[in-house]
Amino acid sequence: MIAQAKMGAMRARLLSHFGRQAWVRDDQGAHRLCVYKGRDLQPVANDRVEIDAEATPAVITDIVPRTNTVLRSESHRAKVLAANVDQVAIVISGAPLFSDELLARMICACAAEQISGIIVLNKSDLAAETQRAEQQLAPFEHALKLLDWPLVRVAAKPTLPHAIGHDDHGQDSQRHPRDLEPLRHRLLGNTTLIMGQSGMGKSSLLNALVPGLNAQTREISQALQSGKHTTTAGLVVRMSPPEHEPGGPADRGQPDTWLVDTPGFQLFGLHHLSDTQLALGFPEWVEVHDHHGRCRFNNCTHQQEPGCTIAQAAKNNQAAQRRLDLWRTLISSL
Ligand code: GDP
Repeated sequence: MIAQAKMGAMRARLLSHFGRQAWVRDDQGAHRLCVYKGRDLQPVANDRVEIDAEATPAVITDIVPRTNTVLRSESHRAKVLAANVDQVAIVISGAPLFSDELLARMICACAAEQISGIIVLNKSDLAAETQRAEQQLAPFEHALKLLDWPLVRVAAKPTLPHAIGHDDHGQDSQRHPRDLEPLRHRLLGNTTLIMGQSGMGKSSLLNALVPGLNAQTREISQALQSGKHTTTAGLVVRMSPPEHEPGGPADRGQPDTWLVDTPGFQLFGLHHLSDTQLALGFPEWVEVHDHHGRCRFNNCTHQQEPGCTIAQAAKNNQAAQRRLDLWRTLISSL
C-alpha cells in the first residue's frame, strides 16, 4: 500500500531561526513562521525541513538529512553556521588587513566538509592596501589552487577619490559597486555561505549583490521578533529576482540563487576537527610528501618531531614557512 502523505505535509527551506521559532519558505514559495515539534529538533539556517502547514502555527516536524554543515566551535561548543551549502565565499580585504590565521581556519572548516569556496578580495579600489592583502594571501596561493578555490577582486562600496577618509552617508549613494560580475556569475544557481571577519565589507557586498536585502532582512527579523538579529545563526536571502518575474530564473528554467549571511566574527574555533580533518586545509603537503618522502613518524604533527619532511621543505621558503606556522598555531589550538 502506498503511504498516504499527511495532509499539510510539505518541505521548506529554513531562512532563519530565533529561539524555538523559524521563518521558512515552503516549496510553493510561501513564507511561514514555524514552531518546532519536540525538544530535540535543532534546525539551522538553510536546512531542508518537513513542515505541517495545516497546523496553526505551522510546525517543523523533521529535518531532512544534511548534505553538509559549516561549523565553528569556541570553548568546545559547536555552532552550525548553515547546512546544505553548495559553496562558501570568504570576504577579505586590505583595509583593515585580513587575518591570515582566520582565513586558514575558515578554509580548514570548509575543506573538512569537502565544501569548496571563493576568496573575495574586497576594497580593490584601495590599491596599496589591496597589494598588502595580496602579499598576505601569497602563501595560500598553491593550496587554493589545489583546492580549486578561485580568487575574485571586487569593490563592493568603493570610496570616491575626493572622499577618502570620509565615509559620510551623504555620499553613500554615489559609491557604486565595481567588478561584481565574475563573482555574481559564480553565485548564480547556487547556495553560497558568505562569511568573513568583521570589517571586510561583507554587509556592503551583500547589499550590492541583493537588491532589497534590507526588506528581506526586515521581514525575517519582524517575523521572528529577533530585533536586529544579533544571534550567531545564519540568515538566508535570495539573490535572484522573484521566480515569476518575466526573465527571472524560473522563466529560464534555472535554479534560484541563495546567499547565507553570517554575522562577522573575530574568532573561528576548530575544536570540532581532528588532526586529519585539519590537514585537509593544507593540501600542498600531500605533494611535499610525494616529492620529498614521508615524515619519519607516521603520526607526525609537523611540530617538533625529528625527520619531519614538511618542516624540512619549509626551510628557506618563506611562503611554506608561513603556512607551517599557521598549521602549528591551529593544531595546538584544537
Ligand atoms: P562588515 O563588517 O564585513 O559587514 O563590513 P561593512 O560592510 O560594514 O564595511 C566595513 C567598512 O568598509 C565600511 O566603512 C564600508 O563603507 C567599507 N567598505 C566596504 N566595501 C568597500 C570597498 O569596496 N571599498 C572601500 N574603500 N571601502 C569599503
